[in-house]
Amino acid sequence: MKTRDIHRAEPRHDLMKTHHQEEELHDPYKPRKKPNEPCACPQCGAINQGGRWRWALAKEKLDHLEKDLCPACHRIGDKFPAGELILSGGFFAAHKQEIIKLARNTEELELKEHPLQRIMSVEDDAGKVTIKTTDIHLPRRIGHAIFDAYKGSLDTHYDKAAYFLRMTWSR
Ligand SMILES: [Zn+2]
Repeated sequence: MKTRDIHRAEPRHDLMKTHHQEEELHDPYKPRKKPNEPCACPQCGAINQGGRWRWALAKEKLDHLEKDLCPACHRIGDKFPAGELILSGGFFAAHKQEIIKLARNTEELELKEHPLQRIMSVEDDAGKVTIKTTDIHLPRRIGHAIFDAYKGSLDTHYDKAAYFLRMTWSR
């Protein structure tokens, strides 16, 4: 029951919203300039309009748009994640494939709405798996999805100065 209480002690959603806005100001990969005209990322095809990244609509032609590398592709190119989720423990070892599948499914769902929230890599090191992400929100989403499904213990550490979020889950 103890971990459940910790889970509930997470900031309330209305408080988190202000927190997120504040976090975004510090993201070194987010340009300060917000283009008025839509720009397309030459690598993934996401479109930046007014500072918000979204996927192109089916009818949109990307060829004639200005090109601007999106922060997710930029981070992938630099191999410079904004977040990570470290998974470990005996239960994890026994259910590794299904837990990683849950992480992938969570990414897939988030990615539909948020083009910048991607898994960069999944590294397996002696039973400890590290999932690296292009943004600081995805490790939270995945961590909570795993916690909701399997309990265990979940911890969050956000380094504001480095704009880096580390989550650990173990069971
Ligand atoms: Zn891109």
